[in-house]
Amino acid sequence: MTEKMTAIFSERVTEHSPAFGTFDGVPRLSYDKPERAKVIIDVLREMSVTSGIEITQPREFGIPFIYRVHDQSYIDHLRTVSEQVAQKPPILVAEITDSVNKVATVKEYPAFTYPSVFPHGSNPRSSNHHADKGIYAFDIATPIMGDTYELALLSAYTALTGADILKQGKKLVYAFTRPPGHHAERSRMGSYCYLNNAALAAQFLADQTGERVGIIDIDAHHGNGTQEIFYESSEVFYASIHGDPSKTHPFYSGYADEEGKDSGYGYNLNIPLPIDSDDLVFLKALDLIIYRMRQFSPRYLVVSLGFDGFKNDPSKIFKLTNDGYAETAKRIGKLELPTLSVQEGGYSIPDLGYNIASFLKGLKNV
Ligand SMILES: [Zn+2]
Repeated sequence: MTEKMTAIFSERVTEHSPAFGTFDGVPRLSYDKPERAKVIIDVLREMSVTSGIEITQPREFGIPFIYRVHDQSYIDHLRTVSEQVAQKPPILVAEITDSVNKVATVKEYPAFTYPSVFPHGSNPRSSNHHADKGIYAFDIATPIMGDTYELALLSAYTALTGADILKQGKKLVYAFTRPPGHHAERSRMGSYCYLNNAALAAQFLADQTGERVGIIDIDAHHGNGTQEIFYESSEVFYASIHGDPSKTHPFYSGYADEEGKDSGYGYNLNIPLPIDSDDLVFLKALDLIIYRMRQFSPRYLVVSLGFDGFKNDPSKIFKLTNDGYAETAKRIGKLELPTLSVQEGGYSIPDLGYNIASFLKGLKNV
C-alpha cells in the first residue's frame, strides 16, 4: 500500500493524569503517566516529516454514539462524579520517595475519588454514593478526576473520528486514544479504562455500513470490556492474544473456552499465552488469529494496539521485541483490510516511541 497513513490526536491527550491505583491495599503510582503521551506525540510528529503520516484532530460526535456501546446510567455516573470531584480541593498524599530509608514526602494532587466496594451484580440495595461507585467499576486502579469524563469522551471521539475516516475510504488510520479503552465494559470502568474506544469504533463501522468488523487485540492484557460488549454479537469478531489470565490481570476473563454466546458463539477468540512468551510464540498465535479473521471475512479491521507485551515493560507479561512488533504489523497488514489502530497500553516510556514507529511502519510497508 502506498497511501499515506492518517494519525488522529488531540493535544489534550497529555492532560489525563491518574495519580494512584491501589495494589494489595497499597497506593501505587499509575503506570499511565502523561509522559507516555508526549513520547507518542513526538513520534507521530517525526513520522509526519519522515514517513508522510497525515496528522488530524478528533471531531465531536455526540453522546448517542457513546450509548451504542455504553449504558446511559454509566455515562451519567461518570459525568456526575467527574463534576463533583472537580469542585473538591486537591488531596495531599504521602509518597515514599526513598525506597531504602522509606522517607515519605507529602505531595499535592488534584482531587480524585476511588470506588470502595465491589458488588457482584449491578442491583444496588443502597443509594449511598459509595455503593454507586462500586457498581460502575471493577477495580481500584481507575480513579475519577475532575476532567476524567471530558478526557475519556475526547478519547472516544478520537477513535470514532478514526472509524469515520476509514468509512470514507482511507486504508490506514491510527487513533491516539488516551485514556485507553479495552478493559471498559458496557457499564463498568476498570484497569485505566473508562470508555471502550475500540468497541465504539467497531460498533460505529458496523452501524454505518452494515458490514462485519474484526477486532485484533494485541495488548498483553485481555480486553475483557471488548469481549463483554460483543459477546453475543456475530457482526463483530473479537480476537485477542494476551498473558494467561490465571496468572495475570484481568484474571476473570480471557480464557480459551470463552467463545461467545448465543448468536455470538464462535465470534470470540482468546489465545492466552504463558507468561514470558517471546516473539516466536506470539507470532504463531497471531497467525491463528489471522487465519480465523480471513474465515470471518470482515470489511473493516480495528486493532487494539498495546505495547505492554514488550520485554522491558513493567507489566512483565511477554518478552516481545521491537522487531516482533514490526513483524506483527506486517502480518496484520497482509489481511489487506482498511485498518484502524487504537492505542491501548504500553508503559515502558523509553521504548514506547520506537515500538510504535516500528508497528506503524510495518503496517504501512506491506
Ligand atoms: Zn494492557
